[in-house]
Amino acid sequence: MEYNQPTDDDLAALVSDRAAFVDRVLSVISDEIVPLTEKGVRGGSKIFGGAVLAKHDLSTVVAVTNEETTNPLHHGEIATINAFYAIPQSDRPAAKDTIFLSTHEPCPLCLGGITWGGWDNFFYFFSYADTKDAFAIPHDIRIHEEIWSATGGAYHHKNMYWNAWHIQDLIDGLDEGTQAAFNERSDALKVTYEELSAVYQASKGTGAEIPLA
Ligand SMILES: [Zn+2]
Repeated sequence: MEYNQPTDDDLAALVSDRAAFVDRVLSVISDEIVPLTEKGVRGGSKIFGGAVLAKHDLSTVVAVTNEETTNPLHHGEIATINAFYAIPQSDRPAAKDTIFLSTHEPCPLCLGGITWGGWDNFFYFFSYADTKDAFAIPHDIRIHEEIWSATGGAYHHKNMYWNAWHIQDLIDGLDEGTQAAFNERSDALKVTYEELSAVYQASKGTGAEIPLA
């Protein structure tokens, strides 16, 4: 599928030290988002989460998990955007000065949310294919295809609003030794999410109304 991808220069404009960046985003997912998601899935919400980090030092502005039991639009990213904009304007950075991190590739709703929210980037850990195959949640690709005829969920990862990166692609661009250490952490995270997914799948249809469960 042909679609626009950010270049190495686009990444370099945002990320000065790729290994330090990958180290930080993996830590934010495992140490800040996962503990929230562990609680969320026990309440019947999905496994997705997000965070906003300051561009200048990668400090966490907000870390959030999916809240679909309160409203089916409260996806991980939308809940993250809501939490970000709930911070008084005087206390928060501008969206353009922050990194948007999503555990899973944003669905069409969340792609729109990130765009309207003012971000010029996002980074995701799991791809649409992972979400569909490993987590039995097929809606992302299906919505892209049904509504916009975007086959396979293909959208422009580089467009006038933002550039988007799969974190695995950043890992794959590192030297082999560094890659191996990150892939080990990445594999451990995948196991954690399989466990979270099992809890969510077991609760499907038993609690809150989530039309696209
Ligand atoms: Zn979404």
